[in-house]
Amino acid sequence: MSEQSIREATTSTESLSRNEKEIDERDQNNLENITTLQVTGPPPAFDPLKKIKEGFNHFKINDFNKNTAYYRKLAEKDEPKFLIFACSDSRVCPANVLNLRPGEAFVNRNIANMVPVSNKAKYCEIGAIIKYAIAVKKVEAILVMGHSRCGGINRLVSLPDKQTSSDFVDEWVSLGKAAKKKVLAKNPKASGEQLRTLVEKESVMGSLANLLSYPLVKTGVANKKIKLIGGYYDFVKGNFDILGTRS
Ligand SMILES: [Zn+2]
Repeated sequence: MSEQSIREATTSTESLSRNEKEIDERDQNNLENITTLQVTGPPPAFDPLKKIKEGFNHFKINDFNKNTAYYRKLAEKDEPKFLIFACSDSRVCPANVLNLRPGEAFVNRNIANMVPVSNKAKYCEIGAIIKYAIAVKKVEAILVMGHSRCGGINRLVSLPDKQTSSDFVDEWVSLGKAAKKKVLAKNPKASGEQLRTLVEKESVMGSLANLLSYPLVKTGVANKKIKLIGGYYDFVKGNFDILGTRS
């Protein structure tokens, strides 16, 4: 082999080695990408029926089957002490937040935990819930539970004063208009999260006042058989505050 051939062969071998090295590095990178995909890849598609089945099985095995006497008694008699109005927000389930067992609370959940003024022509489901809870279930306390970062209150705060929207959500959250007005009158410079938090709390107090427009509530409070409680769950700080009571 001539000197030139040896040089060419050496160069060719070096080039091959470099190529192999590059291929190795590429393979390694690809492998890492595949591994990453396997670990953090997209979650499996949501299967609601599977979730329901698994969730109920968990409850049946870990709770229902272990507390047969409790559930047998509950099947015969349901006497919850609480009526609770809470938001539909998935983060504020009162049973979860307040550690309530089945049988302890009659619950209504709606956007922004509103209780409108008694009106037989409108919002009659709220009237029906209140009547049933007091007349049949004999509840002794009514809790209105507001919460932090409420989407419904956020919508209320952003609504123009003279909105006449027929949108379902806008019309519903407008029930809190008086609370918003009251907060802005006291805090004209409030804005952003501070304003929303103030309205979230004032709206709870407004709902407590509205509850008294239902005759059964008014009588129950006057007779000291029902206590009204305004509460506020802050899931950012992990706090629960009592805003006020009426009894
Ligand atoms: Zn909410």
